[in-house]
Amino acid sequence: MATEAGPKTQAPAGDVLDFVAENAKRYVRQAGGRRVSPAEAELAALAGLHEPFPETSSDPKEVLAKLCEIGSPTTVTTTGGRYFGFVIGGILPAALAANWLAGAWNQNASLRAMSPIAAELEEVVLRWVCEALRFPSDCAGGLVTCATMATFTALATARYALLARAGWNVSDDGMFGAPPIEVVVGAEVHASILKALSLAGFGKKRVTIVEADGQGRMRADKLPKLSERAIVCIQAGNVNTGAFDPAAEICAWAHEQGAWVHVDGAFGLWARLSPKYDQLTKGFEMADSWGTDAHKWPNVGYDSGLVLVRNGDALRASMGITAAYLEPGSRREPMHHAPESSRRARGVELWAALKSLGRSGLRELIETTCARAQRFAAGLREAGFEVLNDVVINQVLVSFGRPEQTREVIRRIQEDGTCWCGGTVWQGKTAMRISVSSWATTEADVDRSLEAMIRIADECRAI
Ligand SMILES: *Cc1c(COP(=O)(O)O)cnc(C)c1O
Repeated sequence: MATEAGPKTQAPAGDVLDFVAENAKRYVRQAGGRRVSPAEAELAALAGLHEPFPETSSDPKEVLAKLCEIGSPTTVTTTGGRYFGFVIGGILPAALAANWLAGAWNQNASLRAMSPIAAELEEVVLRWVCEALRFPSDCAGGLVTCATMATFTALATARYALLARAGWNVSDDGMFGAPPIEVVVGAEVHASILKALSLAGFGKKRVTIVEADGQGRMRADKLPKLSERAIVCIQAGNVNTGAFDPAAEICAWAHEQGAWVHVDGAFGLWARLSPKYDQLTKGFEMADSWGTDAHKWPNVGYDSGLVLVRNGDALRASMGITAAYLEPGSRREPMHHAPESSRRARGVELWAALKSLGRSGLRELIETTCARAQRFAAGLREAGFEVLNDVVINQVLVSFGRPEQTREVIRRIQEDGTCWCGGTVWQGKTAMRISVSSWATTEADVDRSLEAMIRIADECRAI
């Protein structure tokens, strides 16, 4: 007797996809005009999600209707052009559409046997990224969730390679009793590097800290003498100022002594696409490993971290697993290049984004967002506020006076909803951070946001 496939409530997917597509399209169309932070009244609706675990099944269309009703108004509008918090890009149309298709495909990107298309796209995008960033063409790499995991993967690889040279197999024998590895970071290291160091067994505090200058760049002249078992973590693009460490000098010094250099280039590395900013990124190609995010400047959508490693054998030795039923084929296997095994096919969106932008589009995206950051800096200076950093790429730090004034301005800007910026403390000074990372940010978005910032900051002059 013929039976219907699946539980009765799981009706054919077509209807629910049409319903969601309409809602998603409306959301995308309206994003440019929406408040950036959800209003208090909208947030109150979140309480409606806290029902007991449903006893019975529901119609998928009703489920999705509820999600649209409660979810869409309580999103932060990161896609609309006036979100300048953290370093958060938007999502390119090609990437968003590819994400829908990848969802429909539901591919497991562990092994080529599970998804030929996922495995192939990873090879293509890794080669394209190496080409775009002018890294060695034979670099190996993996697609990971985020820059933190990219750093973790690179540190595990460095650990493997440095200890193998001392005759120690860290994959088999672990860290206890292994020859010590020294880790060097700059004073303005990103907190995620410290997290990755703790995950990888190095410890957050067991590091040598090298002095940084006023923009957060590691002082190459302050580097200590290194052992041949040292990992030096440098950055391309400080998360506050956008500044770049002097990579050429640091790499030359480290390599002379046999040390490994890892680059945290979560967003900054992409500046290598632009001849205008090339000077800042000199020498980063000399490093041994790199971590970056395609969900930041390239506007690919989450989660799109990338790790690249010069020594592919060490990456595979530290990330590969063996099991009789997981025997790799003769081609590159995604799961042997990243910490995760089963995962979604991240390469689909990344491929679509890079293919749709091309070199010229990516370069234009970088240069346009940097120009918008300059427009912010000029507008704020003109209104009498202090810009604390050299605006070298897409990051602006501004002070609105005393720390409590700056904090109050930030709070009111977030509440106002015209745009969204976060706060920070930069070398002792409380500041608001503006990060222009979205392809969707127009000059009009900058001007409208500047108007709101200056209006609110003027209101706070008296407090
Ligand atoms: C964003 C960022 C990170 C962390 O990125 P995640 O993708 O959130 O892990 C690390 N370093 C720098 C410089 C960053 O800007």
